[in-house]
Amino acid sequence: MIRLKNVVKIYKVGEAEIRALNSVSLEIEKGEYVSIVGPSGSGKTTLFNVIGGLEPVDEGEIWVDDKPVHKLKEEELAHLRREKLGFIFQDFYLLPTATALENVMMPQIGFKPTKEVREKAKMLLEKVGLGDRLYHLPSRLSGGERQRVAIARAFVTEPDIILADEPTGNLDSESSLMVIELLETFHREKGTTILLITHNLDLANRAKRQINIRDGKIVRDEVR
Ligand code: ADP
Ligand code: MG
Repeated sequence: MIRLKNVVKIYKVGEAEIRALNSVSLEIEKGEYVSIVGPSGSGKTTLFNVIGGLEPVDEGEIWVDDKPVHKLKEEELAHLRREKLGFIFQDFYLLPTATALENVMMPQIGFKPTKEVREKAKMLLEKVGLGDRLYHLPSRLSGGERQRVAIARAFVTEPDIILADEPTGNLDSESSLMVIELLETFHREKGTTILLITHNLDLANRAKRQINIRDGKIVRDEVR
């Protein structure tokens, strides 16, 4: 469950103040598949960042299950992200010096670098169709393949919630569809809550619920 109550996020640029989120309230139940659409600069990425505890809010409350994200310290946020959240970005953010397999193991390496983790990472890479790319560096993968590695990485910790910010923004339409279908497969099989930010209305329309944001405000929220 994700709950926002009157969330305000202000960026100060010199003298100017930008209200990137202007009193946003929102509730997303566990297992929902929600797309978020809106013009460039409307606050979509800011919403992604504050829900993930990647940036503090100026006013309001953000809850992920029973955790008050708006109040947590960095250490508690790191724990929350590790336990419950998976992130997917437009630019993939893979570690360029690590293989596909190492990238997928990354969220768990350090505190549980076991054989089990390795097997799970392999299994996930197979699931996203990259069983024959385990030892490739990101530079030897196409954009679509990189994003599929990032999806495998996001799911390695078995998150309840996936936050995806324009995950297909850098992909051709065929790779885009593959990426979205993978997210939908995890959603269906594991009941993962999906929050999909996208410019692509065809993709956005696949979600059960669509939220439109404009100038930092929710202007429409409809279940189809
Ligand atoms: P979107 O993802 O919908 O394109 P953003 O959430 O990135 O929109 O941005 C919302 C508004 O906040 C925009 O006006 C943007 O210029 C501003 N903004 C975003 N991040 C920053 C930042 N780090 N510093 C200053 N302004 C920012
Ligand atoms: Mg954005």
